[in-house]
Amino acid sequence: MTGISSTRISLRDGDWPDPPASPESAPFVAAAREGRFLLRRCTACGKAHWYPRSLCPFCLGETAWEEASGNGTIYSYTVLAREDPARTIAYVTLAEGPTMLTSLVECDPRALAIGQPVRLVFARSRDGTPVPCFRPVEADEAPGSEPPS
Ligand SMILES: [Zn+2]
Repeated sequence: MTGISSTRISLRDGDWPDPPASPESAPFVAAAREGRFLLRRCTACGKAHWYPRSLCPFCLGETAWEEASGNGTIYSYTVLAREDPARTIAYVTLAEGPTMLTSLVECDPRALAIGQPVRLVFARSRDGTPVPCFRPVEADEAPGSEPPS
């Protein structure tokens, strides 16, 4: 045995710590409640970044909100197998370029891999605030297409 639990990691919807609220994050939260994932992109150098900031972290230029694809790949991850239920901490590189600290959900922790395609899914915190998480893209699910409903 590897020590990594075979328990599937769930979405844990409604069971995440409440993220800190701030005026800067309010538009992100409002869009997330509608299922849209927003990033900020610099209007001067054109680079997107995470987390959202009003000034570009690369050139200090002005930034603007844009809707992101929600597609990414696993850059790095850790399975916290001793927690009950087990959870993950991961860096996911978004299709738009930024790498964000997040969690992998709705997955078998033994089947995760660096470079694996993942897609955004919003879980809710205890007070109902959307929390951006990622789940593996299924083999029969083409990148960019909507999951079957
Ligand atoms: Zn910039």
